[in-house]
Amino acid sequence: MNAPTPPIRSTDRAEGASTPEAATPDAATFLDRLFADGVLMPSGVDGLYGRSGAFEEVIEGFERLVERFARADGAIKVHFPPAMPRVNMEKSGYLKSFPQLAGAIHSFVGNDADHCRLIEALTEGRDWSDLQSPTDVVLTPAACYPLYPAVAARGPLPEAGALFDLKSYCFRHEPSKEPTRMQFFRMRENVCLGSSEQVRAFRERWLERGPEMIRSLGLPCELDVANDPFFGRGGKLMARNQRDQQLKFELLVPVNDGAEPTACLSFNYHQDHFGALWGLTRADGERAHSACVGFGLERIALALFRHHGTDTATWPAAVRAVLWG
Ligand code: AMP
Ligand code: ZN
Repeated sequence: MNAPTPPIRSTDRAEGASTPEAATPDAATFLDRLFADGVLMPSGVDGLYGRSGAFEEVIEGFERLVERFARADGAIKVHFPPAMPRVNMEKSGYLKSFPQLAGAIHSFVGNDADHCRLIEALTEGRDWSDLQSPTDVVLTPAACYPLYPAVAARGPLPEAGALFDLKSYCFRHEPSKEPTRMQFFRMRENVCLGSSEQVRAFRERWLERGPEMIRSLGLPCELDVANDPFFGRGGKLMARNQRDQQLKFELLVPVNDGAEPTACLSFNYHQDHFGALWGLTRADGERAHSACVGFGLERIALALFRHHGTDTATWPAAVRAVLWG
């Protein structure tokens, strides 16, 4: 049952919209097994699954680990809904960098005649999307995106900076047969806002803790420099800059057979990007820097199911103790 541990390779994902979509037969086999053993339930759409009670208990157990650190650090817990104001996504630059991943919510705002057209289109099996209009809400692409404008609205940060413990369902339009690449998934994030020194120290702390946490769960892992999947030709340059400056690290765990190891945690230093964008200032009036550590909760659970089997009752006692002890 244990996954082989292929050598850690680079996780360059700068090829525009491309994500490793071509699922290997092995990856499909893992997904099939998850379905067959009731860990995930198919919906008919790739990357959109039901989760079993056991799956949720694994995530809850893991989140308790994160929460223990977050509480000790004094992080403020905030959970946003999985949607955010459209204007904030526009301002955030997400659509410039990742148009291929973004999702917006549309709804019907027509009259009786439009309603008849909608029913007609549905009855005849025609496309009905022209009868939907954009709302002022889009789907959250990363748990920290709704935070920056909300914190900026409160005024300057305290002297010591600010720490937040976030969680959100996130949407990314990247349908795939790889079970680790979902369209809706949960991200737990801890975010630090403050001086460059404060937020770098925060990231360093988590760069040490992250691998320790994952190893305590009996999982092999490796840290590597990474980049976000910036879109298009221009995106290649941004990806290279991000790597050159080591602004993103990922903690990789082998999950899908025959595929590259999967990024289960991310450690991002944004410099003063969000500070400048949202007018986030420190107590001394300087522009705030920010960093975040993101836990891909489904990916961590899937890594555990991959390495320890689909029946949590048979998992090693040490792993069970860490999660539920
Ligand atoms: P990122 O903002 O891309 O660094 O994502 C933060 C974390 O969310 C990653 O480290 C992954 O663990 C997780 N993640 C990203 N994309 C997906 C996805 N499509 N499905 C499941 N988890 C994801
Ligand atoms: Zn973040």
